[in-house]
Amino acid sequence: MIYDVNSIREDFPILKRKIHGRELVYFDNAATTQRPKQVVEAIAKFYLYYNANVHRGFHTLSQEASQLFEESYEEIAKFINGNMEETILTINTTDAINIVAYGWGLRNLKKGDEIVTTVMEHHSNMLPWRELAELTGAKIKYVDITEDGELNYKDLESKITERTKIVAFTLASNVVGTINDYKKIVNLAHSVEAIVIADGAQYVPHVETDVKKMDVDFLAFSGHKMLGPTGIGILWGKKEILEEMKPFRVGGDTIKDVTLDNVVWHDLPWRFDAGTPHIAGVIGLAEAVRYLKKIGMDGVRAHDIELVKHTIKLMKEIDDIEILGPLDPEKRTGLVAFNIKGLHHHIVAKALDMYGIAVRSGGHCAHPLHYRLNYQGSVRASYYIYNTKEEVDYFVEKLQKIISVKE
Ligand code: PLP
Repeated sequence: MIYDVNSIREDFPILKRKIHGRELVYFDNAATTQRPKQVVEAIAKFYLYYNANVHRGFHTLSQEASQLFEESYEEIAKFINGNMEETILTINTTDAINIVAYGWGLRNLKKGDEIVTTVMEHHSNMLPWRELAELTGAKIKYVDITEDGELNYKDLESKITERTKIVAFTLASNVVGTINDYKKIVNLAHSVEAIVIADGAQYVPHVETDVKKMDVDFLAFSGHKMLGPTGIGILWGKKEILEEMKPFRVGGDTIKDVTLDNVVWHDLPWRFDAGTPHIAGVIGLAEAVRYLKKIGMDGVRAHDIELVKHTIKLMKEIDDIEILGPLDPEKRTGLVAFNIKGLHHHIVAKALDMYGIAVRSGGHCAHPLHYRLNYQGSVRASYYIYNTKEEVDYFVEKLQKIISVKE
């Protein structure tokens, strides 16, 4: 083990809860992670001792709040090797993608242009593009997957043309777990001067992320999937694109000056941070980032691989289990979705709940992907830094028990 999981677990009091008389096994981290005490305390400290609106006051409290807010903002930007100018606060990943679709897409796309996305996407990285296509007359194209649940790169090559203006793809799937080859995708997209939007919701919390190295044009992710609070997400964008892009939401804080017939927009990033920001959210997410940095993202990734490897090894020994996605743990992020032959996914999830195990069941906001794989849904166990191999053992043992009584 790269870091001490047991001491990490001490920071998460919720893990001591009993569910139906059993110790909680929390395997629903792809939906939202738990928060360590440090994050909750940082938020509480802000509200109890520093609370004021930012950027507007000359009084001490407002200046202290502004300083705390900006330091936190900077910390979050640094986590992905970005800077504050290029980092826009959003509500979550979904919001971030919509901002690009309506803020950039609506002003830059026209009839005949093409948007390329994949069948692997979460609805949040599919429906905004569908709306955009409807509003502009652009055409939407979906890149297929292979039978193993990997992106079909041959198909990607054939779908990207001189007409492609946007390529939107997930860095890691929330169902098949596949980590996509961003280099290949970015190179192809840039070869036809399309902009690239990467959905990092399941990637940034699990894999060291460097926006400079990736060379994507936009990256979206959510704080609540990486120990941070809900209601705070990030849209990182390349400065030259953001400079050209008009804010999608306008109003207070987005301007330097307004007269009745003119607007002077604010500098980056404030031009995009309309209205009072989620100050406590930024402070909480910065604390989450500090927590992850202390563990080290290499450690987070190694831990994911270990748990997924262990899960797949145990599941492969059970005939009735069908795993979705690639079987090589190195190709995946920290989750395993599966089905049990002859049992509905919701029944499996409910039965696991009776043993204190929290998993997700359903379409996981990726219905087209499930239909492509000939499923109506699946059960998903998703891990994070505090999960253990012993929990995986207990989980698979209970799956066997559920299978043994299914007839
Ligand atoms: N993209 C992926 C791959 C996801 O897994 C999720 C959430 O599960 C989202 C986008 C949407 O995230 P949020 O609900 O935080 O906007």
